[in-house]
Amino acid sequence: MKIVYSGKEFDVQESINGFEAAKLVDPEKKNKALAFRQDGKLFDMNHVVNGGEISFVMPEDPDGFEMLNHSCSHLMAQALIHLYPGCLFGFGPAIEEGFYYDVDFGDRTITEKDFPAIEAEMKKLSKEAIPYKRKEVSQEEACEIFKANHYKVEHIKELEGTISLYEQGDFVDLCRGAHVPNTSYLKHFKLLSVAGAYWRGDSKNKMLTRIYATCYPTKEALEEHLHILELRKQNDHRKLGKELGLFMLSDYAPGMPFFLPKGQIVMNELTSYWRKLHARENYKEITTPTMMSRSLWETSGHWDHYKDNMYTTKVDETDYAIKPMNCPGAMLVYKNDIHSYRELPLRLSEMGHVHRHEASGALNGLFRVRAFTQDDAHILLRRDQIESEVKNIMRIFDEVYNVFGLSYRIVLSTRPDDFIGEVSFWDESEKILAQACKDSGHEYQINPGDGAFYGPKLDFKLRDSMGRTWQCGTIQLDVNLPHRFGCFYIDENGEHVEPVMLHRAGYGSLERFIGILIENYGGAFPTWLAPVQVRLLPVNDAAHGEYAKKVYEDLRNEGFRVEIDEATEKLGYRLRAAQVEKVPYTVVLGNNEAESGSVTYRIYGQKDQITVSLEEFKKLLHNAIDQKLRF
Ligand SMILES: [Zn+2]
Ligand SMILES: [Zn+2]
Repeated sequence: MKIVYSGKEFDVQESINGFEAAKLVDPEKKNKALAFRQDGKLFDMNHVVNGGEISFVMPEDPDGFEMLNHSCSHLMAQALIHLYPGCLFGFGPAIEEGFYYDVDFGDRTITEKDFPAIEAEMKKLSKEAIPYKRKEVSQEEACEIFKANHYKVEHIKELEGTISLYEQGDFVDLCRGAHVPNTSYLKHFKLLSVAGAYWRGDSKNKMLTRIYATCYPTKEALEEHLHILELRKQNDHRKLGKELGLFMLSDYAPGMPFFLPKGQIVMNELTSYWRKLHARENYKEITTPTMMSRSLWETSGHWDHYKDNMYTTKVDETDYAIKPMNCPGAMLVYKNDIHSYRELPLRLSEMGHVHRHEASGALNGLFRVRAFTQDDAHILLRRDQIESEVKNIMRIFDEVYNVFGLSYRIVLSTRPDDFIGEVSFWDESEKILAQACKDSGHEYQINPGDGAFYGPKLDFKLRDSMGRTWQCGTIQLDVNLPHRFGCFYIDENGEHVEPVMLHRAGYGSLERFIGILIENYGGAFPTWLAPVQVRLLPVNDAAHGEYAKKVYEDLRNEGFRVEIDEATEKLGYRLRAAQVEKVPYTVVLGNNEAESGSVTYRIYGQKDQITVSLEEFKKLLHNAIDQKLRF
């Protein structure tokens, strides 16, 4: 039998397994590989190799990480049956950064206090190197094996064909596999948290205990991940937002953030950056009303399809709705004039404040809100302009995300089952969006069937400094809304033609974007966004207060956001306070500075103190702000 490995062909005996194949083709991997791949499928190492092309799953690979974590969920379950006999298991999948298992502990409550005992049992089982054994049984046999667990039986009854089980020692689980060879492959794991989770996510079902945990290939990788988790906790935007005085929430308006003076500065800076950029790119800014009458929302289709998410009211016997989206308003603006084909693309931008009803349980700081500002734009264009305009938008997004040091990936969502319009238009549009990605040098993933009912879309998933991804930007193609509103332009021959539309947002929601930035920067905003850019510390008020005032006036007149922290406290204390409040530039003013007209500054998070003339300091600040440097 022939197998191909890493481009080379090997003649091997029939019916060798993964271990034996590894020994022949790449001996180093024999005891390290978790499983092998053949024809796009994963197999346990002790499974027979059927010839053809094979490769090995190593712990560092993305599917290796998933396999470690999935296997570790079985290991945790085995530890749990030893410690809590009779507990019943629901689902226990690998997730992006680890795994969880949903468990019915009966009357017992499991908390984080129980974690050390569970981890100790897992360590013990790991040392025993218990093999994972695959078994295939019929549905009836599976039901018999799991008869004590109605969750598993319910699941088995939904499956078809033979059912695979994985057995390790005294524990057996329903599972597709593949798995690592034995429990000793799992050494670097940590239980993280517990939460309640309804069986199958349905609130009519029993609430199970979900235990979140993670498993990494090495001790270092696990420690690094735990460090990031700790950072995420410290940088939680709800906590920092309060400490830094950026925003507040009130029970008088759940999910509708209030921006405090310092947070408003961040909001204003983001907005003015956006405004300048879009003016350069020939966008025309508009503002449309917050509340518009029912008939508008009927025309747009929102009244029929989106009413549950809208806040409505009655004025003079007429139904009104607060806008959940800016699109219908933009349509009215477009229709206010007759447009020639020469005016297209017409780019109508709007910082639109929208309201959407979210369940109260889903609300989360600035991340999940009921009121937010979209950096929206509706671009009306001819069909032959779609590709170049999408590229234009991608260029703008690229520029914006770069400023914040956020990398991203793009997802193309294609025609859903429930779509409107012609299939040919969809096919063509999807091709255009894909081509735009390729031409601008971006890879993209396809999310089949996840487009909006009116057109395909590109979503931009940003990655922050702590390894999380956030869906922010979006470009959506729409043929529906211009049609519903009877929009047209006059073409070369004087005919009325329906334009197509692109909806697009870069930040997505300003509120959410600010939440992301707070966490991404750990509250230490770059100078251009920082609510206070410079804090002046006179060493002694009597001797240096006068000079500090002069510097203050000078910097203020140049437009910098500057404060004086007078010498009511010791210098060391005030220096620490400036660090805690994450002010980019802390300036100490003493005898030397006052005599020579200089300043001694220290940058946030750095130890060096640097003395420069006041003029030079201003230049340096201007540069940091104009270039949008971190400091
Ligand atoms: Zn499994
Ligand atoms: Zn829109």
